[in-house]
Amino acid sequence: MNDFLLSIVVPCYNEAENIAPLLARIEITLKEYSYEVILVNDGSEDETQVEIELANSMNQSVSYIRFPRNFGHQAALKAGIDHANGDCIVTIDADLQKPPEAIPEMIALWQKGNDIVTAVCRNEGQPSLFKKLTSTCYYKVLSWLADHKVLPNGADFRLFDRKVADIIRSVQTQNLYLRGIFSWIGYKQAVTYYLEEKRKFGETKYGFWKMLNLASNGITSFSVKPLRFALAVGVFFAGLAFGYGIYAIIIVFLGMTVPGWASVVASIVFLSSVQMMVLGVIGEYIGKIYIEIKQRPTYLISKTNITPADDLRGENYSLNLKGQPSDRQERRAAMT
Ligand code: UDP
Ligand code: MG
Repeated sequence: MNDFLLSIVVPCYNEAENIAPLLARIEITLKEYSYEVILVNDGSEDETQVEIELANSMNQSVSYIRFPRNFGHQAALKAGIDHANGDCIVTIDADLQKPPEAIPEMIALWQKGNDIVTAVCRNEGQPSLFKKLTSTCYYKVLSWLADHKVLPNGADFRLFDRKVADIIRSVQTQNLYLRGIFSWIGYKQAVTYYLEEKRKFGETKYGFWKMLNLASNGITSFSVKPLRFALAVGVFFAGLAFGYGIYAIIIVFLGMTVPGWASVVASIVFLSSVQMMVLGVIGEYIGKIYIEIKQRPTYLISKTNITPADDLRGENYSLNLKGQPSDRQERRAAMT
């Protein structure tokens, strides 16, 4: 037995058929380790909660958090991390596309002193060409905008140290983008590779709009460069307008004025669309400020079997839970 506790955080949204197979594979893979599994039910509409509670009744190391509605993948991950007791924490999807069999290697890298071990998908055959193309471009742009490297294909399958979990726990934001936060944290990072499997049950929850939303969140929560870009566009067109103004004055003096209806209309249409675009970018940020300023919790919990483990837990925790306070060491002792 290894003398540390591993927490496995699994966000679940309509994953009823995947819960039991996932837990079975975790159990086989990690029998030499002491671990806890935290299943976060992100407002599923199917039988996910039934499956989760069944697993909990059969297996002491399985605990759960249930949201009253769908708060999104990132919020579900945050909830799991906030409640994890482990010395290191793994986040993995419920759909078995990411193999739990990769976890021992991630643990080994952590034991070699790495604080964050990101598992990067190596096979490119599974997602659609569109998803592949957009994600490659997106990560390139994001890394440039955010001034720190964001790993491509590092889709929230990672292992990280307790101290990293404590930092994430302290982050209170509505516009959560964990991939960005992990690269922002820095620390000692390592990468491991895995082969993504096909989804056996259920379907992807990341449709086009949800992906677009996550992508936009990733950029606007980590960078103000788009605002500067908007300013640069403004300055560029102001320069052009100035030049054109001088040209107009000159031709007036030269008596060469010509009826220029088409060019006037074209420039008005073009410049007003640029203005709209710039306003849109600014609006995106103002929207973020508006949501942030309300200081609502990232998620709400309607049901859980986890009791508060220590006072460090975020405000989110105290909202709905009235468990016995106990300390992390005690919980660990009880579990091992
Ligand atoms: N998920 C979630 N809330 C959501 C969407 C997804 O908790 O609103 C979970 C989902 O159950 C899965 C993981 O996040 O465990 C990844 O989602 P999915 O497999 O749909 O994404 P994809 O692999 O297609 O990118
Ligand atoms: Mg998936």
